[in-house]
Amino acid sequence: MTISVDELLPDELLDTIRGRAAGYDESNGFCHEDIRDLARAGYLKMFTPADDGGLGYGLEQVAAAQTRLATAAPATALAVNMHLVWNGVAHALKSRGDSSLDYVLAEAAAGEIFGFGISEPGNDSVLFDSKTTAEPTGDGGYRFTGTKIFTSLSPVWTRLGVFGKDTTGGEESLVYGFVDRAAAGYTIKDDWNTLGMRASQSCTTVLEGAEVPADRVFRKMPVGPNPDALVFAIFATFETLLAAVYTGIGRRALDIAVDAAHRRTSAKHDGRSYAQDPDVRRKVAAAAMALEAVQAHVSTTASQVDALTDHGQWWFPKLVSVKVHATEQARDIVDTAIRVAGGGSYFRGSELERLYRDVLAGSFHPSNEDSAHATVANAWLGPVED
Ligand SMILES: Cc1cc2nc3c(=O)[nH]c(=O)nc-3n(C[C@H](O)[C@H](O)[C@H](O)COP(=O)(O)OP(=O)(O)OC[C@H]3O[C@@H](n4cnc5c(N)ncnc54)[C@H](O)[C@@H]3O)c2cc1C
Repeated sequence: MTISVDELLPDELLDTIRGRAAGYDESNGFCHEDIRDLARAGYLKMFTPADDGGLGYGLEQVAAAQTRLATAAPATALAVNMHLVWNGVAHALKSRGDSSLDYVLAEAAAGEIFGFGISEPGNDSVLFDSKTTAEPTGDGGYRFTGTKIFTSLSPVWTRLGVFGKDTTGGEESLVYGFVDRAAAGYTIKDDWNTLGMRASQSCTTVLEGAEVPADRVFRKMPVGPNPDALVFAIFATFETLLAAVYTGIGRRALDIAVDAAHRRTSAKHDGRSYAQDPDVRRKVAAAAMALEAVQAHVSTTASQVDALTDHGQWWFPKLVSVKVHATEQARDIVDTAIRVAGGGSYFRGSELERLYRDVLAGSFHPSNEDSAHATVANAWLGPVED
């Protein structure tokens, strides 16, 4: 029998993880102890089937777990998200009859940690083109050369999922593979010093002919938008789990706002708490309603991915919508929480001050607000005419 999300992440573990978050943020340190504790709890093998030593979760349960984890430590949750994305991709493909990434699920159960080396400087085509070169080695393998930015989990990944472009054949193709940590031909820069999400240590990875053997090359496809199931699986898992993380930030901010409203008292109103103040009550209510909608949106989307719901061409607009909805609402909820909590939240070291910095990262992940709106507008209005 599989365990529930609350059993997987009990309050005590969550409190321990929450207790470390400020320290990681202050020292700009990687969340090593969190990853160790999460691995021990089985968190990194959530998607692996129970028969193969995992928890047998689907996307809906993993999203719920990520929301819960993010209430304690957003940067830890975001970092783990990248490992979970590759596992979720493997799970989504497996559910659709494609076992090409089953080894990811098996290796996650054996303790391997997967990084997501996709983003590149100036590549706003994201998955549809690459500035990284994938050069065939002649035996089915490839050598990757290029720069990957914001590689979360940099200190600990043992497999880095990358993609690059092979221009050697007739038709250019995009090639996906996993670089082993022990492989030669890459450098991790020590350059992560950001406003928020500091414990994710999403450093720059420079690929300098990093070799991926044939059995670790897992997809080749033409450049450009593509109906390949891998593209759907990456989009569906990435957007949904990212939305889940930012939903957790919103949830935590609301809890802090409620506490603050009870704790702060008004001299003007005979020492009554701000929880009695109509303006504060309205702000908290509005944030709670926004959170309800986001939570429902994330879990519905995740359950439909699990259920193999066929939205056809509407899937992509739906997926970018859940990401933008969750990240933007989380930002608004944190903003409201700060107004409710008052000036104390402005001090360095207050949890809301950290959440304010962490939540800002939501707008940078793909699909950003502009490209998401273009996707949704195209779906409803058709493409812009030349
Ligand atoms: C906290 C966090 C964690 C993330 N984790 C991951 C992860 O694990 N894996 C992953 O794949 N992505 C990750 N991302 C990356 C994210 O998905 C975006 O790709 C990233 O935020 C870049 O956004 P941007 O294009 O708006 O940045 P930009 O600011 O436009 O560009 C980013 C960098 O590239 C440089 N650059 C921009 N254009 C060019 C150009 N034409 N030529 C040369 N250099 C250029 C800029 O100077 C800048 O340093 C993460 C992002 C954040 C915020």
